[in-house]
Amino acid sequence: MPNLSFCRLIPVSILALGLSVVPLPVALSGQAPAITPTPPADRAEAIAIFKQLIEINTTDTPLGNVTDGSTAMQKRFLDAGFPASEVHLLGPSPRKQNLVVRIKGTGTGKPVLFLCHVDVVEALPKDWHTDPFKFVEKDGYYYGRGTQDMKDSDAALVATFLRLHREGYRPARDLVLALTADEEGGSANGAAWLLQNHRELVDAAFVINPDSGGIELEQGKPVVADVEATEKVYADFQVTATNPGGHSSRPRPDNAIYELTAALNKLAAYSFPFELNGVTRAYFEALTKQEPAQTAADIRAILATPPDLAAAARLSVEPGFNSNFRTTCVATRLAAGHANNALAQTAQANVNCRIFPGHSPEQIRKELSDLFADPKLGVKYVSDAGVVSDTAPERKAIVPPPPLPEVFEPLTALANQIWPGVPVTAVMENGASDSIYFAQAGIPSYGFSAIALERGDDRAHGQDERLPVDSYAKSLDFFYAFTKALGGK
Ligand SMILES: [Zn+2]
Repeated sequence: MPNLSFCRLIPVSILALGLSVVPLPVALSGQAPAITPTPPADRAEAIAIFKQLIEINTTDTPLGNVTDGSTAMQKRFLDAGFPASEVHLLGPSPRKQNLVVRIKGTGTGKPVLFLCHVDVVEALPKDWHTDPFKFVEKDGYYYGRGTQDMKDSDAALVATFLRLHREGYRPARDLVLALTADEEGGSANGAAWLLQNHRELVDAAFVINPDSGGIELEQGKPVVADVEATEKVYADFQVTATNPGGHSSRPRPDNAIYELTAALNKLAAYSFPFELNGVTRAYFEALTKQEPAQTAADIRAILATPPDLAAAARLSVEPGFNSNFRTTCVATRLAAGHANNALAQTAQANVNCRIFPGHSPEQIRKELSDLFADPKLGVKYVSDAGVVSDTAPERKAIVPPPPLPEVFEPLTALANQIWPGVPVTAVMENGASDSIYFAQAGIPSYGFSAIALERGDDRAHGQDERLPVDSYAKSLDFFYAFTKALGGK
């Protein structure tokens, strides 16, 4: 989903919004897994895979082909001795085949799924200082389209699965890696298609999706580890007032511009209802330990049953708080009229909504229509592809359960060995990723890339996309230990 997909590190959010960062209140129990440096031969293989993937163009363009990336990885798994019965190449489009690989476990517990999209956003060579489809190491960085989003993690997971297999590792439950199409472009051939058509291949206790989350660095110092634990649903609505128009020297009583602005003023004055879920509740609970006394008191008041709505109103002044406890809708574009001396025949606004998990775009469309209470106004849905329709999708993000300790305990323990002292924070993302399909299917999905990036160096979808060499090396160390911690013995 170009422009909508908040791939990696846009959860920079919490800090960018001026909120304090707080560690997730996870009590570590049992033996913490240990990080060991990836052996040189394994690291070299992981870099070779990264290079190979970057140099295969997987854009949703005539030059791009996701299947070429999937088959290259399929060959590596089969050459390494993975049974053919555990390596599945499949999808409805010949150019957009997905690859699903499984390391069989000894037990009967539900699998762990690692979800990685292989497609990338188009890159225009003339905008770049290197060829975006050449893997270039320069000044401590790897350059190329997909080095941040997300062929780094694709390659790290492929390399990790190959290493685990080589070492004869047998987890207690299946570990599954899905390399998928159509996260950035179309939406029909990748994660959603696999879930609808081959749920048995991707069914899991939970999903790790390295397409978001990660370590934020400030001048090389790790500041926070973001883990996306739920996400809002993105929706655009087109609000339109129409009028027969006429000469502006003879104004009529009805007027498209005035009718539209009256509706937008109602929206400006309106707040969607206050709500919390398991993730945002844990987030606000942790904030009470960090915030100044009055703010902390207000936060405790909204956590009470029933919540103190006056306290919520005070906290709403801070956009970062407000967006974490309600659906928001805001006018983002406006167009009206066709001449200085003519009455407007059309006045139109785009209203952009970030919908709290548990509500559908269609429900919000109806709420907007009720709020405007003007039967002459059209409130239509605008899809990601720009198609306008009278009704909106009924799909909604599932209300998330509290963050799973079986994920956050090892994640926190391992992250702190690589990035000492880094607080691990569960966040609700305001963008969208393939995680939403799994959340809708009742499978919790956590976004964590194990990639450390300087704040301000987020180049996903941009020019001269690059990844620090050291960040890639550390992500290998992390994923090797993390897969074993999740897989068990
Ligand atoms: Zn992505």
